[in-house]
Amino acid sequence: MDTRFFVTWMEEITAAVRAARDHLTRLDAAIGDADHGTNLDRGFSAVAEALAAHPPATPGGALVLAGSTLIRKVGGASGPLYGTAFREAGKTLGETPEVSTAELAAALEAGLAGVRRLGGAEEGDKTMVDALAPAVRALTRAVHEGGTAGEALDAAAAAAEDGAKATIPLQARKGRASYLGPRSIGHEDPGAASTALILDALRTVGSR
Ligand code: ADP
Ligand code: MG
Repeated sequence: MDTRFFVTWMEEITAAVRAARDHLTRLDAAIGDADHGTNLDRGFSAVAEALAAHPPATPGGALVLAGSTLIRKVGGASGPLYGTAFREAGKTLGETPEVSTAELAAALEAGLAGVRRLGGAEEGDKTMVDALAPAVRALTRAVHEGGTAGEALDAAAAAAEDGAKATIPLQARKGRASYLGPRSIGHEDPGAASTALILDALRTVGSR
């Protein structure tokens, strides 16, 4: 996976977030403040513009620029969290021009660690961590089992999707939704849903 691959991944996320903007906002309307779709749409549109204006030289450079842009452009909780995830992932890739599936797994693991450090959420708290953690686990497992890159990205996307759906019966313990207490039960977490979308975009780019 080269720099072009990572830029295309970001473009794919931008398009997917645009298409799912109203859906994400509806999820956030149920247990938050109805801005998750617009937050991410604004953020990833800015990411696409930044990548076009300052073409990155490396995969890591692409992810660091994406992360910095999200931190700058998205006011909600998800901006700093996703921004940190992409920045940490990008920093982990360093200057390498070509990323293996194992290196991608390590980078996403670092991104997850950044989200945990900043937000303090564990799995089961009904946040993006509930989609990202199983995705990273599935990716790492697929690498160890020696599967193809396509199989590994498929497994990660499927795990993120399952993790997002599994937030429905949970009570939120972090973020705005936690203010609702038991009334947060019965709704999919918007951040977990957008994480599933980000991993699905990765699978799409990997399958081309
Ligand atoms: P805000 O909550 O500020 O309106 P968004 O609506 O853009 O921001 O994002 C909400 C999402 O952010 C939640 O659905 C959840 O997945 C995620 N989130 C919120 N707080 C945390 C946290 N402490 N750790 C991890 N994720 C969190
Ligand atoms: Mg919100």
